[in-house]
Amino acid sequence: MSPASNRATKPATTAAARPVTHSVTDLATSPATSGSGPSAPATPRSVLISGASIAGPALAHWLHRYGFAVTVVERAPELRTGGYKVDIRGAAIEVAERMGILEDIQRASTDMRSGAYVNDDGKRIATLPADIFGARVGRDDEIMRGDLARILYERTRADVEYLFGDSITSITPVTPAAPAPGRPDGRHTAAGADGAAGVEVTFEQAAPRRFDLVVGADGLHSTVRRLVFGPEEQLLRHLGAYISAFSMPNELGLDREELYHAQPGRLICAYSSAGDPAAKGWLSFRSPRLSYDHRDPEQQLDLLEAAFEGMGVSPAGGWREVPRLLAAAREASDFYFDGMQLIEMDRWSRGRVVLLGDAAHCASPASGQGTGMALVGAYVLAGELAAADREPEEAFARYEEEMRGYVAVNHALARKFAREMTVDTRRQIRLRHLMMRILPYMPWKNLVAKKIAEDVQRGAHAITLKDHPAAPAANAAAGPVPAAVRPPYAA
Ligand SMILES: Cc1cc2nc3c(=O)[nH]c(=O)nc-3n(C[C@H](O)[C@H](O)[C@H](O)COP(=O)(O)OP(=O)(O)OC[C@H]3O[C@@H](n4cnc5c(N)ncnc54)[C@H](O)[C@@H]3O)c2cc1C
Repeated sequence: MSPASNRATKPATTAAARPVTHSVTDLATSPATSGSGPSAPATPRSVLISGASIAGPALAHWLHRYGFAVTVVERAPELRTGGYKVDIRGAAIEVAERMGILEDIQRASTDMRSGAYVNDDGKRIATLPADIFGARVGRDDEIMRGDLARILYERTRADVEYLFGDSITSITPVTPAAPAPGRPDGRHTAAGADGAAGVEVTFEQAAPRRFDLVVGADGLHSTVRRLVFGPEEQLLRHLGAYISAFSMPNELGLDREELYHAQPGRLICAYSSAGDPAAKGWLSFRSPRLSYDHRDPEQQLDLLEAAFEGMGVSPAGGWREVPRLLAAAREASDFYFDGMQLIEMDRWSRGRVVLLGDAAHCASPASGQGTGMALVGAYVLAGELAAADREPEEAFARYEEEMRGYVAVNHALARKFAREMTVDTRRQIRLRHLMMRILPYMPWKNLVAKKIAEDVQRGAHAITLKDHPAAPAANAAAGPVPAAVRPPYAA
């Protein structure tokens, strides 16, 4: 069962985004990376990560532990804390434990009690315990995406350079002959097996800089991917639905409960989670691919309103809360809207640039594994980079090799769940309600719950994690994390 009994009240964390202004030279000689300590590599490698959500800061955590000099650039002016609740299961639990953040996650758990389907009047038709509803077993947990982003940011902000409010505009491979800006000794730019010496990066705001590696952890609509691999249209598979998530006042008085309302081709949800005085809403609707600017919330709100127009207003039918949810979406400062989409790529790296998390293999919210895969991918990529030392291409190849099967299983699940998430007819909706209503009284209810969780668990466990030097096995005694841990094979 989920560790509800271990959960303390969620601490009220604030994400005061702190712009840090180290120069490249500072980074090269910072205590964690200068080679002064017994465990730091002699020549630190500089890594630029684009995206400060889940994948980016998780990778920053590991790379710092391995002695890399890490910079994270995030387009938003401060840490983005919105989003739906996300599941941490299977291999992701193991990674969280190795990172030393599992207890933080448990403390910030949504601690949901139950889920119910409601009729047009908001009357609960069928209620199930939250863990059955969310297909969680064992140590699986659930946390608000924003809380996890905060945990990761707070863990890394002292050791990692964060540049908020900026974005990469170009990435150019450089040859060993070209001296690095600010590093005429070329110390940052020794050539790897690929003959390249790093990459020159330009930004919207900051001055151009050179890094040994660039990681695109900038999500479904990744800029790094577009710059290096081309337009997303060729790589994006639309799963036939859109989803929007936002905060709203808890006018329904929900207490760690989620309420769902189904209409043909539509699913609506309102819930509240532990320690949050506000509630959250989300709305999903079936639709072929729509054309809109994914950075323009006004356009997205218009699409959302059009998709739910008239719902909840007599005589159209539907949950009478829907108009209130739509109004809340307009008011929310953390409004999120995106397609249920997969990113499918033949390879995730080119030269000194590699993709991570949704940027590489977005599995859509339908998979329930996007955040877990981001955490796991960060662990695998960092471990392989540390192990390969100066051969990034070899590390990238191993990272892909380890992750591919895991991603494929979860992409298949996303396709299945996206099809099943909404139903087409009122008859199917009635059947779903009936199943939920009778389930708690069935002697075989645990078997059914297990069966429901089986697919999700298969996806969550579809990878075997290697043990990397700075990542003690899950059951090893957790000690203080050294500032920089040198892999045994580093020069
Ligand atoms: C605000 C927000 C709300 C979300 N809400 C949900 C949700 O409700 N349900 C759900 O299933 N998933 C949601 N997601 C996606 C979910 O977080 C990811 O599927 C998963 O956690 C994988 O994370 P990621 O770090 O790979 O990508 P993401 O979480 O998508 O993070 C990408 C990060 O890169 C940043 N970024 C984008 N472009 C640039 C650029 N050019 N330069 C620098 N930074 C850039 C983004 O601002 C973001 O911080 C949300 C993501 C965000 C950012």
